[in-house]
Amino acid sequence: MKTHVRVLVIGGGVVGVSTLYHLTKKGWTDVALIERTELTAGSTWHAAGLLPLFNMSYTVGQLHKYSVDLYKRLPEETGQDVSFHVTGNLRLATCKERMDEYQKYCGTANTIGVPFEVISPARVKELWPLIELGGSADTPAIVGALYHPHDGHIAPADLTMALRKGARSAGAEIYEHTEALGIERSASGEWQVRTSKGDITAEHLVLATGNYARQSGRLLGLDVPAIPVEHQYIVYDQSAELKAYRQGGGRELAVLRESDKSYYLREERLGWILGPYENGAPARFADGVPDWFGRSLFPGDLDRLVPYVEAATRRVPALESCGIKDIVNGPISYTPDGSPLIGPAWGLPNVWLNEGHSFGITAAGGSGWQLAEWIVEEEPGIDMLAVDPRRFGAYTSKRYVVKKNEETYRNVFVIHFPDEERPDARPAKTSPVYALVDAKGAVWGQRYGWERANWFAPPGVERRDRWSFRRSNYFEHVGNEARLMRERVGIIDLTPFTKHEVTGPGAESWLDGLVANKVPAKIGRMSLCHALTRRGGIRSEFTITKIAEQYYYVVSAGAAERYDSDYLFKSLPRDGSVGLRNITNTRGCFVLAGPKSRAVLAQLTDTPLDNASFPWLTAQTVEAGLAVEVYALRVNFVGALGWELHFPIEYAHHLFDALFEAGKAHGIGMVGMRAMESLRLEKSYRMWGSDMTPDYTPFEAGLDRFVRMNKGAFIGKEALEKQLALGVPNRFVTLEVHGVTDADPLGNEPLFDTSGRVIGRATSGYYGHCLRKSLAIGYTRAEFAPPGTQLAIEILGERKQATVVRESPYDPDNLDLRA
Ligand SMILES: Cc1cc2nc3c(=O)[nH]c(=O)nc-3n(C[C@H](O)[C@H](O)[C@H](O)COP(=O)(O)OP(=O)(O)OC[C@H]3O[C@@H](n4cnc5c(N)ncnc54)[C@H](O)[C@@H]3O)c2cc1C
Repeated sequence: MKTHVRVLVIGGGVVGVSTLYHLTKKGWTDVALIERTELTAGSTWHAAGLLPLFNMSYTVGQLHKYSVDLYKRLPEETGQDVSFHVTGNLRLATCKERMDEYQKYCGTANTIGVPFEVISPARVKELWPLIELGGSADTPAIVGALYHPHDGHIAPADLTMALRKGARSAGAEIYEHTEALGIERSASGEWQVRTSKGDITAEHLVLATGNYARQSGRLLGLDVPAIPVEHQYIVYDQSAELKAYRQGGGRELAVLRESDKSYYLREERLGWILGPYENGAPARFADGVPDWFGRSLFPGDLDRLVPYVEAATRRVPALESCGIKDIVNGPISYTPDGSPLIGPAWGLPNVWLNEGHSFGITAAGGSGWQLAEWIVEEEPGIDMLAVDPRRFGAYTSKRYVVKKNEETYRNVFVIHFPDEERPDARPAKTSPVYALVDAKGAVWGQRYGWERANWFAPPGVERRDRWSFRRSNYFEHVGNEARLMRERVGIIDLTPFTKHEVTGPGAESWLDGLVANKVPAKIGRMSLCHALTRRGGIRSEFTITKIAEQYYYVVSAGAAERYDSDYLFKSLPRDGSVGLRNITNTRGCFVLAGPKSRAVLAQLTDTPLDNASFPWLTAQTVEAGLAVEVYALRVNFVGALGWELHFPIEYAHHLFDALFEAGKAHGIGMVGMRAMESLRLEKSYRMWGSDMTPDYTPFEAGLDRFVRMNKGAFIGKEALEKQLALGVPNRFVTLEVHGVTDADPLGNEPLFDTSGRVIGRATSGYYGHCLRKSLAIGYTRAEFAPPGTQLAIEILGERKQATVVRESPYDPDNLDLRA
């Protein structure tokens, strides 16, 4: 066994072996994998082998697509068959909302380039002759289906062996029966892994340990938010009807999913495999996998399966006469949002996670591909924010993860409404004024563990969302909140913002090297700054304010806390010249905005607030009411006169009451996240994570005014220079969408030119309540970006005409902000 390697992968399931394979593809061959028992001994051996291309996430969709393409090439490349049955995949719909979901997905599929068909019930019957089209109360009529002709199912163990062969033939080593027992950082900064067969030192470590993620994380002091849930499928004996159909020349049936009944069905040796996502499946191994478990399974739980068996039998009567051969009940790794954890571990250099896979057979190819790219090139090749392990924070306690994973599991097949907010493990993190905000009628949502008010139900209105892909019950109320902000004054509680304090003699020059804009040199100035990837994409957005000499206050998205904090801490110079503190939980933030905001704030402070004394884009430390040390920043995300008040957290209650008291005469009210979305769209403000991602440079994002190419070096500058020399391929656009009556764009819709070619994608969209227009923002190829260009956007399967309009359709000259 080698004692030193460049990368050591821990875990010999399909995901670990794929990572190893892809590292060798990138030219890193001094790599090894250790497996505590035998390859595929974890979840991989008992997986059903389905490879669904369907996924609502833009990122995961791309990973799955890569996998399916790779698996088709592998046998020829490695000489190892993988039993890939390209049967196609059929997802049934029995209601209009389900068809809306499929149509929403189709928009994403179109932007990724995944082929699909939306088909009629008659075509379903043609493709799947053994199906009942239904029409009764317990077997509703099929109204349509989504068909992917190019995916199917595979043999997971064969796939792993093919990847193994590919990796080994390129020089990678695999050591079975070798368990990682302890990990320490050596003086040189490398990772020393104590294994059951001796020590191995590695520059980089990859954890790909499936159900063992909790205990392997603990070897490094990491609380990995991946806990398995029980997952079962039934293996049936041969089916006479199926046999007759196949002997009559019928081709292998597509994998069938009746989403509205939460199960899948596929052929297996002239019988069937039926797999439901049941209610009540428990999380397991929250404290780790016990030694005795090994390659075991859990006993089958037939009671939990019965309702799904009955539903499937009504849909496919051929199941009725089949005996049950086996029930497979195994642990399947889950995370609180159902997506895997692929990317850097927080707080530890050169430690990488490829964990939390619930569709790991499908995702293994793509996750190995991108993780290898990240390790070797220091950046992934596509936007990986949706699977980055740092999208979760310290709030993912064991109980939180257990509850959320059980909830995610039983919701695998629910309709994924864009405004869905799941109830379990809530409320967890709340702002100190939660009860006060709640008393104002808040209808809550959750992001990064924080409760945030999405909208406010006026007295007498039900405090409940009716989730939809279309305009819903809250539409009018959100509109009223948006107009309140534009016409009078409103408050948004943005306490969840991520906040860092950067101090010391080296603070300015360090920050300057991290971001593309010039960091403010004068006290009281602020800059909107973007940290870029080495490829020039946008990795983070920070509002950097100089509060005092050698003291910067750095604010970024609430959901980016661990992601940004990890990046900042890992980038710190080692000479002690810069102090960095994450002060997210020590300061609250209220946005006070609207034409009357000055009159309201003036009652609480002696600081002059007129334009000369307190201009737009400046900051001052003020007293407000009884609160001291309030950083008042004259900026906001809604495009109105106003201030962000960042205050010591202990004043939250007082300040909230004082602002409401002072604002009473002006009709002050609360404004929620959905109204904020509408307001920011009217101003073409880009949101980190959707409109600003590593896929696009600041030039593509139209953020040129925040890039100083003539300052010193900063990360990503070389890539930007190259892009300027070659030409900027895509451009940010704002679109007015015509003819919308009930389904506004929401992001991830494809954009077409007049000849019907896809020429871009919307990254966000909403109804602009004050402009009374349906709006989208996104990216097109550069030649389609000039205002006035006519395009089409596909919303839930319908093409709508859209016109590229000038940026910031509301108040393009920022007169409100400067008022
Ligand atoms: C019943 C069932 C059906 C499924 N069906 C499908 C499907 O149809 N399609 C699909 O895409 N997915 C499916 N899955 C999910 C799929 O099985 C997993 O997502 C996938 O196998 C995960 O692979 P992995 O490599 O991450 O983990 P694993 O296969 O669990 O591998 C992890 C490996 O790490 C090793 N290990 C752990 N700790 C250490 C250590 N300290 N030192 C050395 N080695 C260690 C373990 O022994 C294990 O071999 C199914 C899962 C279940 C339970």
